[in-house]
Amino acid sequence: MIEVRGVSKSFGDNQVLKSISFEVKEGEVVVLIGPSGSGKSTLLRCINYLEDFQAGEILVDGAAVGYNASAGGSKRTRQSETEIARLRTKAGMVFQNYNLFPHKTAIQNIMMGPVLVNGVSKAEAREHAQALLAKVGLADKANHFPSQLSGGQQQRVAIARALAMRPKVMLFDEVTSALDPELVDEVLKTLRDLSTEGMTMIIVTHEMQFARDVADRLLFFYQGSIIEDGPPNDVFANPKTERFQAFVKRFQSGTVAA
Ligand code: ADP
Ligand code: MG
Repeated sequence: MIEVRGVSKSFGDNQVLKSISFEVKEGEVVVLIGPSGSGKSTLLRCINYLEDFQAGEILVDGAAVGYNASAGGSKRTRQSETEIARLRTKAGMVFQNYNLFPHKTAIQNIMMGPVLVNGVSKAEAREHAQALLAKVGLADKANHFPSQLSGGQQQRVAIARALAMRPKVMLFDEVTSALDPELVDEVLKTLRDLSTEGMTMIIVTHEMQFARDVADRLLFFYQGSIIEDGPPNDVFANPKTERFQAFVKRFQSGTVAA
C-alpha cells in the first residue's frame, strides 16, 4: 500500500533522509520511533508530498507521489499540482497540533474537506461525519466548538476529519505528544480501533508500550537512516544496534524529552 524506495532528502547541506526504503502492506501498522531530529516527520511529510525529496520514489496505493518516473526510471518529472492534490487525499495525516478551525463546530470541521474538496453533498458529508464522530466516541459532541472540547477530544475530531476524506492510508505524527497524560489513552484507543478495522497506518510515537502492542513492524530511525526494522518483539528482544538499546533505556528512565 505504501512503498518508499531509496528516498533521500536534504535541507541545504543537511541530509535528513539517507536513502530510506521500506514498504507497508495493506492493513499493516508500521510504527516509527527514534530521537528528535532523526527525520521521522520529514519522512511522513514526503509520503504526503508536503515536502519535496531529491531522490528515490514513493508510491501510495500503486501511484507515484510527487514525481512520475520516466520509462527508464532515470529522469523524474514533477507532477502537476492537480495530480499532487488528488494523490494527497489518499493519505490522511494527523499532527501533534490538531489545528481544528476554531469558529467551526466539530461536525463542520469534519464535513468541510469532503464538501469543498471532494464535492460530496452536504447531506452525505453530514451523515458520514456523524458516523465518524460515533466511531471516535464523540457522537454527542457534534455541535461543540473546539474550545469546548478537551485536547484529547479535539485530537479525535482531527482524526475523524482525516478519515472523512476516505483515505487509503493514515499517517500519524506524534498525535499524543501535546496532550495531558490522562488524555493520551483515549487517542491511542482510537488508533488501536483503526488498526483492528484494518486501516493501513504509519504511526510516529514515543509511547513505547503502545508501539509494542499495536505495531506489526517497528522501524527505528537514527540520523536519517532506519537502523532497526522488524516485528516489535524481535526488535526489543534482539536489537541489532546499541543505539536502539540506549534510546529505549534513556526513554524508560525518562531522561529523553523527545
Ligand atoms: P523528527 O520528526 O524525527 O524529530 P524532523 O523530520 O522534524 O525530525 O527533522 C529532521 C531534521 O530536519 C532536523 O535536523 C531538522 O532540523 C531538519 N528540518 C526539518 N524541517 C526543516 C526545514 N523546513 N528546514 C530546514 N531543516 C529542517
Ligand atoms: Mg517529528
